[in-house]
Amino acid sequence: SPGKISLIPSRLPPLPTVRDLVRIYRVRARRSLSQNFLLNKNTNEKIVNSAGIRNGDHVLEIGPGPGSITRQILERGPQQLFVLEKDRRFLPMLEMLASAAYPDQMKIIVGDVMDYTFDNLFPGHLKKEWHEESPDIRIIGNLPFNVSTPLIIKWLRMMSNHSGFYEMGRIPLTLTFQREVAERMVAQVMDYQRSRLSIMCQHLCHVKIRFTIKGKSFVPTPKVDAAVVKFIPLIEPKINLPFNVVEKFVRHLFIYRNKQIHKCLRTLFPKDMHDLNEELFIKSGIERDLRPTMLSIDEIGSLCHVYHEFCTENRGLFEFNYQTRKKLAISQFSDQQQQQQQQQQ
Ligand code: SAM
Repeated sequence: SPGKISLIPSRLPPLPTVRDLVRIYRVRARRSLSQNFLLNKNTNEKIVNSAGIRNGDHVLEIGPGPGSITRQILERGPQQLFVLEKDRRFLPMLEMLASAAYPDQMKIIVGDVMDYTFDNLFPGHLKKEWHEESPDIRIIGNLPFNVSTPLIIKWLRMMSNHSGFYEMGRIPLTLTFQREVAERMVAQVMDYQRSRLSIMCQHLCHVKIRFTIKGKSFVPTPKVDAAVVKFIPLIEPKINLPFNVVEKFVRHLFIYRNKQIHKCLRTLFPKDMHDLNEELFIKSGIERDLRPTMLSIDEIGSLCHVYHEFCTENRGLFEFNYQTRKKLAISQFSDQQQQQQQQQQ
C-alpha cells in the first residue's frame, strides 16, 4: 500500500544524479531515437504512481534511457524489473542501477520493442484468467513519440488475441504519448479529435489521460507536450469481432473524416458490390448520412457486425483493397492514354 511505501525513504544506495550521469557519460540525446529525457523526480514519481506500481510487483519498463523513471520504480520495491532499451550507450548507467538494486531484481534487455516477443518473460505463477483482476504485473514507459502509436496498435492486437504478455491476464499499461495523440485516444462522440485510434483503444480498454507534461519538462525540449495515458484492458471488448475486421472497418470509416459515412464505407466494397454498402445501413439501422465522429462505439459495432456477415457470405470481400484498385485503375487509364497517343502519332 502507498502508506507502507512512504515508511521506506530510499531502497537504493546513494547514486550520482541522472543529470550528472548523462554529463559524465557524455550521452547526447539522439533525435533518430526520439530521446527526450525526463529528469524531474516529481514527474517521474507521478508516472510511477499512475502505473500503480506496488511493492512485490513484476514490472517491465520500455525505453529506460539513463534510468530516471527506473529509479522511481525501484524505490517501490518491485519483485522484478525488466528494462528494454534499444540504445547501448545507456548500458553503463543502467548496469550501475542494476547493481545498486537487490540482487537479481533488475534485468536489462537490449532490444527493439517493436520486434521483441516477450515470450515467457513473466513467471507462469503470476497468470490470472482474463475475467479476473489484473495480475501483479505493470508495464510502463516514456516511449519515443515516433514509436508509441504503431506500438500501441501492435499491443492492442495482442490484447484482443490474449497473446504475447496478454497471456498473463489483463495487464495495465502506463505510457507517454504526444499530447495530441493521447487526446485522440480518449476522444468521445462528437469530439473533433475522435478517430480510428479512439475507437481501437476504447473498444478494447478503459483508457484515461492521467496527466499532461509540458514540453519544457523534457531535456532536450520537444516542440510538443506529452500526456501519460493508462490503459486497462476490458474483460469484454465493446466490439466482439476479430481484431483485423474491426481494424479494417474502422480505418475505412474514418477514411474521409468530414464526409458522410456511406461515402467512407463505400471504399470497403468493389464497384459491383456497392448495393451491399446501402444494405449495411438498412440492416444495422444506422443513418447513412452521419459523419464518422458522430457514431458511438455501439453503433460502429452494429455496422461492423453486418460488414463481417457480408465478408463471411462473400469470399474475397475482406481482402478487397480499394487503394490497389484505385492504383490499378489509374495505371490502366494511363496505359490507355499512352496507347491512344501512340496511335495518334
Ligand atoms: N525513460 C527515459 C526518460 O524518461 O528520461 C528516456 C525516454 S526517451 C523519450 C525514449 C527512450 O526509448 C530512449 O532511451 C530510447 O533510446 C529508447 N528507445 C527508442 N526506440 C526504442 C525502441 N524501438 N525499443 C526500445 N527502446 C527504444
